[in-house]
Amino acid sequence: MSSLQELLLSRIKDVPDYPEPGIVFKDITPLLADPAAFTALTDALADICLRQGATKVVGLEARGFILGAPVAVRAGVGFVPARKAGKLPGATLGQSYALEYGTAEIEIHADALTPHDRVLVIDDVLATGGTARASLELIGRTGAQVAGVAVLMELGFLRGRERLEPALAGAPLEAL
Ligand code: AMP
Repeated sequence: MSSLQELLLSRIKDVPDYPEPGIVFKDITPLLADPAAFTALTDALADICLRQGATKVVGLEARGFILGAPVAVRAGVGFVPARKAGKLPGATLGQSYALEYGTAEIEIHADALTPHDRVLVIDDVLATGGTARASLELIGRTGAQVAGVAVLMELGFLRGRERLEPALAGAPLEAL
């Protein structure tokens, strides 16, 4: 394990049975509260952004906003929030996706991305991959290219990577 991984892991707290029994919630608030760790994370994600030639960062609500916004500033690219349905004031594009029970929907502003953009999606945790996959489908509908998906943590046992791969179309999924 690299020293970056050791630092990041040491600042993530496992909270058992939250928000419901059987789920181990990965709490990143200790990491956000530590400027050295948060800076190291931002730098590592910004490196991915620059390496993939992204022109925009799409952050997934809500912790993808906290991680993605400083990455966009550091990399010198624009930030686009992918929000839960009904929160954006302008014309939107929406994509629904299946949850364990029921469905959810995320939206971006219809004019937030153009076919000239290369987009890096950022979130804290990749679990089943449903949210990230919906974001890739949304990006695809704008005509923009997918530069990749970058997350702090991938919960490998949930096989989100397999679910994302068709929508990634060869672009990388990088989990720090
Ligand atoms: P999924 O669509 O299943 O990949 O879920 C991803 C979203 O749910 C991300 O935005 C995560 O922030 C959140 N999430 C899922 N599982 C966890 C977990 N065990 N700990 C913290 N956040 C989680």
